[in-house]
Amino acid sequence: MSKNYGPEYVRAIAPYQAGKPIAEVAREFGLDEAKIVKLASNENPFGVPESAKQAMAAAVAELGRYPDANGFDLKGALSQRYDVPADWITLGNGSNDILEIAAHAFVERGQSIVYAQYSFAVYALATQGIGAQHIVVPAKAHGHDLPAMLAAIRDDTRLVFIANPNNPTGTFIPAAEIEGFLSKVPAHVVVVLDEAYNEFLAEENQFESAAWVKKYPNLLVSRTFSKAYGLAGLRVGFAIAQPALTDLMNRIRQPFNVNSLAQAAAIAALNDREFLAKGADNNRAGYEQLVAAFDKLGLEYVPSYGNFVLVKVGDDAGAGARINLALLKQGVIVRPVGNYGLHEWLRISIGLPEENEVFIEALTHALAE
Ligand SMILES: *Cc1c(COP(=O)(O)O)cnc(C)c1O
Repeated sequence: MSKNYGPEYVRAIAPYQAGKPIAEVAREFGLDEAKIVKLASNENPFGVPESAKQAMAAAVAELGRYPDANGFDLKGALSQRYDVPADWITLGNGSNDILEIAAHAFVERGQSIVYAQYSFAVYALATQGIGAQHIVVPAKAHGHDLPAMLAAIRDDTRLVFIANPNNPTGTFIPAAEIEGFLSKVPAHVVVVLDEAYNEFLAEENQFESAAWVKKYPNLLVSRTFSKAYGLAGLRVGFAIAQPALTDLMNRIRQPFNVNSLAQAAAIAALNDREFLAKGADNNRAGYEQLVAAFDKLGLEYVPSYGNFVLVKVGDDAGAGARINLALLKQGVIVRPVGNYGLHEWLRISIGLPEENEVFIEALTHALAE
């Protein structure tokens, strides 16, 4: 008999399901890697910005040394961009790291964390990983129900995770609603506002959440370089919060959690307005392309504010898995979302126009089978 190692709450963790790598799909289905289209992980279809490649090439010579543990230059650039002091910033090995650090820094085992049904899978993992209690608030029209989330907060609640826009549903909460929520949340509860897709928002939906941090000492805003900035493989994200929170985040994080190439690339990408604008334009056009196809195919979808769309591909609980398999066989990788309880749906990342077209043709074919 094998012994049970580790705490019960660790054994109960359901591992994160990442998008299938291209090489794996090629092997499994006997396909040519070059012909595979991956629209599964909300990655940037333009890849790494040229500016970031150059910055990394220059940083390679220093790789024999440890990275700057305090990320002086990157924090300086972020401090300028968001108009907050540098010591209000925590760097993370991707924003996943930020979410994990926040759970460790602010919550004790047995206390509770509030998040929404159908919100980012990492919230459940971060909660489970520290042995905290999950308070999962039912979604409303696939998005966050903030009044219900407020009502769900208990005396033992220490953290609320909010994704805006949300992944995997793409829903968005307008500024006024978030601020209404922040003004009512009890002071002992930290609110993590995860804005991984903020840069894709149309101008009329943009708001400066970093400015709210000055007003709300219990707010922590989380951002990433993985999506709009095209640096998913490097793992770099950051948080903005007042020093009382940031100080604890910095005690919990690993001293060298963001490597030197990532720091250099992030500074370059942050200042590459052209790359960001090109990505936003492509995303807008790609969204229209996808939803026009869904309309034509008579498929329901959730209107999205991110770089992906959640689409309902059938009425039975096997639909998502079935269509996903049919797409894989045609060399198209998307994301099944059955692990969220969304068995009839698939999440499609917005790609380049030609990639979207390959997906639309493959989907049309899969639905007709
Ligand atoms: C992609 C994503 C992240 C970012 O993850 P990284 O660790 O920064 O790559 C964070 N939150 C949400 C909701 C996401 O979808």
